[in-house]
Amino acid sequence: MKCHFCSGEMKKGNTTYTVNRSGYHLLIDDFPAWICLQCKEVYFEESAVDNIQLLIKSLDNQVNSVREAALECRSLSGKGVKQQVISMIETLPEAITLDDIMAELYFMKQVDVGLKELDDGKGLPHEEIEKRIARKCKGYGNN
Ligand SMILES: [Zn+2]
Repeated sequence: MKCHFCSGEMKKGNTTYTVNRSGYHLLIDDFPAWICLQCKEVYFEESAVDNIQLLIKSLDNQVNSVREAALECRSLSGKGVKQQVISMIETLPEAITLDDIMAELYFMKQVDVGLKELDDGKGLPHEEIEKRIARKCKGYGNN
């Protein structure tokens, strides 16, 4: 096997496989690869790349659901709303549409309204809502 760039000799070795997704980053150490002895270009086996693609697909979904759950647990208080909206938008994929952003904002607002009603003691009995939110937010470090 020769390097596509410099026709140098390729050797089996290990490298760090880096995945940069919008919203999260993944580093896999000691990942088997072919490395060009001349220009250090790194090649991965097709089957390994396929497996990584599958991993990314399932991670995308898991990261999104963890993020949504965390978002649900966040209350929009008067102070810091701007910052919270900015960081929410930053977590969205690059290919997001304006409609999606509006939907996310609307979702944030609905959660906030729910939490305010909770504070005012409206709707469900206060304790019941608190119990539900505590259950939902368990593990995300927020109340
Ligand atoms: Zn090369």
